[in-house]
Amino acid sequence: MSFELQFFGAVGRVTGSLYLLRVNGYKVLLECGLIQGHHEEEAHNREPFPVEPGQIDAVILSHAHIDHSGRVPLLVRRGYSGPIYTQHASRALCEIMLPDSGYLNEKDAEWETRKQRDGRAPPIEPLYTRADADACLKLFHSIGYEEEFEVVPGLTLLLHDAGHILGSAIVELRYRDSEETRTLVFSGDLGYRDSPVMEPAAIIKKADIVVMESTYGDRLHRPFKETMEELGSVFHDARASQGNILIPAFAVGRTQDLLYLMEQHYEEWQLDKWRIFLDSPMAIRATEVYARYRRLYDAHLFESNSSLPDLENFHSTLTTDESIAINDVTSGAIIIAASGMCTGGRIRHHLKNNVWRPECHVVIVGYQAGGTLGRQLVDGANTIRLWGKDIDVRAAIHTIGGLSAHADQKDLLSWYDNFAGRPPVYLVHGEPDAQRPLTEELVNKFNAPVTIAKYSQKVVIAP
Ligand SMILES: [Zn+2]
Ligand SMILES: [Zn+2]
Repeated sequence: MSFELQFFGAVGRVTGSLYLLRVNGYKVLLECGLIQGHHEEEAHNREPFPVEPGQIDAVILSHAHIDHSGRVPLLVRRGYSGPIYTQHASRALCEIMLPDSGYLNEKDAEWETRKQRDGRAPPIEPLYTRADADACLKLFHSIGYEEEFEVVPGLTLLLHDAGHILGSAIVELRYRDSEETRTLVFSGDLGYRDSPVMEPAAIIKKADIVVMESTYGDRLHRPFKETMEELGSVFHDARASQGNILIPAFAVGRTQDLLYLMEQHYEEWQLDKWRIFLDSPMAIRATEVYARYRRLYDAHLFESNSSLPDLENFHSTLTTDESIAINDVTSGAIIIAASGMCTGGRIRHHLKNNVWRPECHVVIVGYQAGGTLGRQLVDGANTIRLWGKDIDVRAAIHTIGGLSAHADQKDLLSWYDNFAGRPPVYLVHGEPDAQRPLTEELVNKFNAPVTIAKYSQKVVIAP
């Protein structure tokens, strides 16, 4: 028996998940995510994969987020032609997200080419195209939660609900020969215990080795009740000022959380006084996938037999014309639009039309990375720049910090606490500042054998 794991991505950072398993001569890639961040960091996406793509036997994805799935089209473009295993709903979300990522790559490359043009330089190649993404989708094979599946001879895959976004999975891999069984459990991204829509992360008790995310290993989220009160008071105050409310939101996860919370608090927040627009083609399609897979969570989000949220005054605006028509609404509109950090998408048009008006409100409900337009708003910028124009920020900016799709320190500790016998745990998908306090807690509370995973570090699970 030989069963080895090697870390190649999301080590000491959050994005770019990529781990290689060697199982009795077979090579299995666990995650194939995009590195996201500053320009120099993103350049690493173009580097060769740790093994020739043509030599990989199988790929497993924990969920659809681009930091876990976003390099699959590149892998296929470079010669991978084997199966890609993921949960049914994750596959449906990848069918929306990967082509969109290909499209964004094409746009980026065009922009870079224009910027660097000195007349002679060759055009910059996109990392991959929409067509590459379409091609890789043909290799997807989806499976359900709690269904055993043999990935390569002797290696069994089992996906458990991770409670993070629709279809997200904890990945359990069991390798069995005639003598023994060895089990690796990879947390994927774990959900927050108070997640409005998703179920709590599945409890696993047995593992020989655990690989765990550590995104918020250093903090506790704000109590959910306070967050709801905060949101309620924003809607209440905004009504008095008679403007619009803009909510930049991630298309997958956060948007559906918001729709659900609005349905739950419809009367309390007096939402009947507003018109609610979902103005993002990606978010509208993702919401349809949430409707199709409503059996995976028990929150009531949709009217029966419909993929429309169970909200009065709800409008989903798929076409550009419908979106432009919202510009005429100067008062009483709640506009939910991507992108979540205002780096692209229709939210930028709505900011242009509303952010200079003191009667308007912008509600920030997600993480805003440094350098993004969303972060500038959170940091209190007096002006923002859109399409070459400086625009005064006079709308009220509200930051609601308590909505998160990720486990906090308490969740991470209690998830690990379920494992019998305190198996060795390797921390990934987190920055050093989050990993150090989590390590201390794991050692102090459980005397756990903890390692912060390092790039190219190899772990022998069975010799
Ligand atoms: Zn994720
Ligand atoms: Zn992630």
